[in-house]
Amino acid sequence: MIIIDIIINYNSDILNGTLETLRASPLGSLVKPDMKVALKPNMVLAKPPSEGATTHAEVVEGIIIFLKEAGVNNIEIIESAWIGDDTKRVYKVCGFDKLSRKYGVMLHDLKDDKIRKIKASKPQDEYSFEICEKALDTDFLINVPVLKAHCQTRLTCCLKNLKGCISDREKRNFHTLGLHRPIAYLNKVIKTHFCVIDGICGDLTFEEGGNPVTRNMILCGSDPLLLDSYCASLLGYSADEVGYIPIAAELGVGQLYGADTKITELNADRKPIIPDTGRGLAKRLAAYVNEDGACSACYSALISALNRTGYRGEKVCVGQGFRGKSGNLGCGSCTGGFRKHVGGCPPTAAEIATFLRNLY
Ligand code: SF4
Repeated sequence: MIIIDIIINYNSDILNGTLETLRASPLGSLVKPDMKVALKPNMVLAKPPSEGATTHAEVVEGIIIFLKEAGVNNIEIIESAWIGDDTKRVYKVCGFDKLSRKYGVMLHDLKDDKIRKIKASKPQDEYSFEICEKALDTDFLINVPVLKAHCQTRLTCCLKNLKGCISDREKRNFHTLGLHRPIAYLNKVIKTHFCVIDGICGDLTFEEGGNPVTRNMILCGSDPLLLDSYCASLLGYSADEVGYIPIAAELGVGQLYGADTKITELNADRKPIIPDTGRGLAKRLAAYVNEDGACSACYSALISALNRTGYRGEKVCVGQGFRGKSGNLGCGSCTGGFRKHVGGCPPTAAEIATFLRNLY
């Protein structure tokens, strides 16, 4: 059996791309028709997914179609929006109410759910969490986060997405406790069985969106820690720079991304070309980019690295239009003929950030 840790599909057709990703994954062998399956998207606040904060309904729709094809019919969607927003309103703004009607899938607002107190401890560290019962009383939890940045924790993806499964009082408490340790411990208490990551256009800087960057990526795998440590590199961070990642590794939540991680890419030879140059901060950073036929994965990695490093030097060239050409600064293997370039197809934002920092 071939072991695959992470599948990445470069695809701008969100629904079909999700289905294609799942059909290449082991998910079909992990679920059984008699299981109750819970899907946990990121419905943090009432903004459409194009803003970069919330999960696209098409990703969740792809998972529902896949599960139904596998004979699973007991499917529910669970979430509690952040404090100050109404989960039901978020479901509506993001199109999940239509999804619920179309497929007969229940939408649960966890703000209305019963709470169970669960302890997580290790010598000198003890937490008692108020967990929403629906997140515990399921046979199989599929975590469906958005790959995006966070102003406090730097990355928010699989591990942090479970914060939507606790009471509002517990959410406040998490901030008092400094976020990182409780997020890591929460992932010992709530078991994620599979993750499907919406990497279509996550925000560059904030969890609430407004600076979406087109990546057109759908990722999946069974290990939330492995996925998060890989996704940190896509935003320009090492795993150690996202505080909860090393703590989760210490707790045995999963493995860390490394040279031995088995990554399978779908549509690697036809990575979607960027349809636009983003908005807000992403657009301002585009002033330092010379783009010609860039794949969205390469372009978004470069924008993330520019944001991460604060680089404000000469323009960096990126894109297939630079193949076989010469120049000064290039990003990606297409610019292999340039005087200085970072290789990879695409390079991660972490690799580009190191390249930019070493320029001067
Ligand atoms: S190196 Fe070229 S082909 Fe590869 S992802 Fe970047 S732009 Fe696309």
